[in-house]
Amino acid sequence: MGIDPNYRLRPVSGEHGGHKVYGKVDPPKVLGVHGTIVGVDFDICIADGSCITACPVNVFQWYETPGNPVSEKKADPINENACIFCMACVNVCPVAAIDVKPP
Ligand code: SF4
Repeated sequence: MGIDPNYRLRPVSGEHGGHKVYGKVDPPKVLGVHGTIVGVDFDICIADGSCITACPVNVFQWYETPGNPVSEKKADPINENACIFCMACVNVCPVAAIDVKPP
């Protein structure tokens, strides 16, 4: 199961790297969904890295998440405002952890 496309309706649990974090957070096990324009479900992300390679405008940066049971780093959408909505990241993510929605 991939990212919930309605995750933006969840309570905002905080801010990180210039973007909001949605849903329950209990680090290092539960990390929520990071980003509003470009949302990455940190609880699904396996650190495949294909989104980082695919993005033409460098929206993502690795964020270390030691102790997380799924992967010890995540593709963090620190530069989501630069997104040009090409959907490359959405299409390459092997676990469908990314949802992109223009503001
Ligand atoms: S939709 Fe395109 S520009 Fe936006 S984050 Fe994904 S790969 Fe980057």
